[in-house]
Amino acid sequence: MTKMAFIGLGNMGLSMAKNLMKNGHQVVGFDLSEDALKSHAANGGSVAATAAEAAVDAAVVITMLPKGDVVRRAIFGADGVIETMSTDALLIDMSTIHPSETDEIRKDLVSKQIAMVDAPVGRTSVEAALGTSLFMVGAEKYDLERARPFLECMGDTVIDCGGPGTGSRMKIVNNLMTTSLNVLTAQVLIFSDATGLDRDLAVNVMNGTAAGRGHMSTTYPAKVLKGDLTPAFMIDLAKKDLDIALALSEQLGVSLSLPTQAETVYSDAQRAGRGGQDWTAIYDMLHTNQFSAT
Ligand code: NAD
Repeated sequence: MTKMAFIGLGNMGLSMAKNLMKNGHQVVGFDLSEDALKSHAANGGSVAATAAEAAVDAAVVITMLPKGDVVRRAIFGADGVIETMSTDALLIDMSTIHPSETDEIRKDLVSKQIAMVDAPVGRTSVEAALGTSLFMVGAEKYDLERARPFLECMGDTVIDCGGPGTGSRMKIVNNLMTTSLNVLTAQVLIFSDATGLDRDLAVNVMNGTAAGRGHMSTTYPAKVLKGDLTPAFMIDLAKKDLDIALALSEQLGVSLSLPTQAETVYSDAQRAGRGGQDWTAIYDMLHTNQFSAT
């Protein structure tokens, strides 16, 4: 049984704290919301009047807060955990924040001899409640192993992202994909609805192709990630299909902002003489443009 502090008992934190307690840990919670504190107490947790009070004698302090400035304040601000945290204790920040904020917070903690693990969470509050979260961990190996037993009380997947700050970076990369795909998904379904197709049918069909399954797990591994740009499906043909979709969307009066931007990238690829390459060569072209020496 470990004495822990948990700062931020919101949609994620409340049930994560509960899962830690289920595994026998003693969790002193702090949140600005009275309701959150009441719910934590109802789950069997103790509550503190400040973050500093929660961290007294805690071996592990977890922060699960909305934004980077809030995390910084909960640690270093008035009544922040730094006032009471022992140098033997470990701070695990599971919030999603800017990687530069993660780096700054770590630097300032290390200057006070306190180790930090960044462990942002993949999946949603549904999995947090079930104890099946995924953690993207950035830490020194030793600290990751210190954090692991606690993370395993809250999740079923702990991924070492490669050193301090990498968990925070991985989370932002991951969420660039999920947040952007969310908009593309919405636009594609609206387009599909406008064509008169049954929505469930369209979802089923796309879940059987790269449309729904995603390029990273279907087309990319077989082609561009292996350095093979010979066409399984040519850029010229992909561009033709995208053009048809954009023409049809105009007839139907559906605005498709992301696909319209995608069209300019396919045009660039054709102008660069890549029309005969595999469609995954879009990554090769953008990578080359981004990283080639000027
Ligand atoms: P939330 O808004 O439900 O919870 C945040 C909690 O922090 C609230 O209860 C709030 O009262 C509390 N709080 C704010 N300032 C505080 C302070 N100074 N001291 C103490 N408590 C304070 O948010 P959430 O959904 O639990 O998300 C928390 C973090 O996890 C965010 O960074 C979010 O991006 C990330 N995240 C959320 C999900 C999700 O599905 N909700 C999934 C993965 C990651």
